Amino acid sequence: MSTLMETGVTEQKSASATADSPLLGVYRRAEPLFIGGSGSTMIAEDGREYLDFAAGIAVNALGYADAGVHAAILAALETGLIHTSNLYRTEPGEQLAAQLVAKTFADKVFFCNSGIEAVEGAFKFARRYAREIGGGAKHEIVAFNGSFHGRLFGGLAATDKPAYRAPFEPLMPGVHFVKPEDIAGLRAVVSAERTAAIIIEPIQGESGVNVMSPKFMQALRQVADEANAVLIFDEIQCGVGRTGSLFAHEQMGVVPDIMTIAKPIAGGLPMGAVLLTNRIAAVMHPGDHGTTFGGGPFVCTVALEVLRRLSDPSLLASVRSKSERMMAALKPLMSGNVVADVRGVGLMIGVELHEPVAPRVAKALEEGLLIISAGEKVIRLLPPLTISDKDLQRGLTILQAVLA
Ligand SMILES: *Cc1c(COP(=O)(O)O)cnc(C)c1O
Repeated sequence: MSTLMETGVTEQKSASATADSPLLGVYRRAEPLFIGGSGSTMIAEDGREYLDFAAGIAVNALGYADAGVHAAILAALETGLIHTSNLYRTEPGEQLAAQLVAKTFADKVFFCNSGIEAVEGAFKFARRYAREIGGGAKHEIVAFNGSFHGRLFGGLAATDKPAYRAPFEPLMPGVHFVKPEDIAGLRAVVSAERTAAIIIEPIQGESGVNVMSPKFMQALRQVADEANAVLIFDEIQCGVGRTGSLFAHEQMGVVPDIMTIAKPIAGGLPMGAVLLTNRIAAVMHPGDHGTTFGGGPFVCTVALEVLRRLSDPSLLASVRSKSERMMAALKPLMSGNVVADVRGVGLMIGVELHEPVAPRVAKALEEGLLIISAGEKVIRLLPPLTISDKDLQRGLTILQAVLA
């Protein structure tokens, strides 16, 4: 997800890192070559340590070299079963699904390997259900301005970013966009005959850490119910502990019919999941969807450890108190003429500037702090949820200087 604009790395710096690389040039990577990690720090080849307030884009919630993740990986290896295919039963996947069901609104879980796969799965499940109750005309998706749902043809069709979409059109047809918080606009677009699903990030990540209001989320629920449309929450970035509750929507007094999760769930191993209710699950039959790798025993063993740790009420409480500390340190910067706004929930914080963020992101890198952007003018802060008080303070001190 990190284009030049998003990482804020300058053209000049990135050129040497990408020009000779055999890797396809769809990212402009930052200059340091990373060879290790520990706690909330990544270590570069030259021995320099970088404090990480990006956490691999909200993936490394337990930081680096976590003892529990390490032990889970070793335990998974010892079974000798990395992969079995979904033609056979294994215990870790069944346990993980049961845990997710126990902790959420959901009755069923489908595992896959990334965020976009979870979104594509969610669209297929919603379409299948809509066809069952409303016929083929009921296939449209309603999404929101500022949305990001991934880079393949379905998720991209529901992503409101022309630069990502235009070179690859035509995308999946039948997607309509509505302004967040615009309930009248939503009602004008959602139709019982045509709308299969409404998809929303309870907190938009890529477009600038935009937090949806509980009132709007509750209205969405009502509009979806009136039209018999499936309500999908994309919690790939804001979910699994990031906001100080296990899922962001828990703080909004509303539940979806389907939820997509991914980024942090397997401790950095690739994994996504679609969580759904029995009402929708009932229309899916053997052969309707599938995945070779999804939900394998290795990755699920690691995800069980991550979910156990990130569901811990004391971990979630610490996320909330660290959030308060960050807000207290950052909000006063709004009185200067660089910072326009500081917003977010838990350890998903956006600092909107009056100017493009790229130079400040580059400056932070020079000072040994990894931060990323979300759109042109917002710095996105996503430290590991386990960050120590000392590291948090150190990062905030660098940030205060960089944003002065
Ligand atoms: C990152 C992200 C995705 C896509 O996930 P990938 O694993 O990169 O495919 C989808 N939706 C949201 C909200 C995301 O933040």
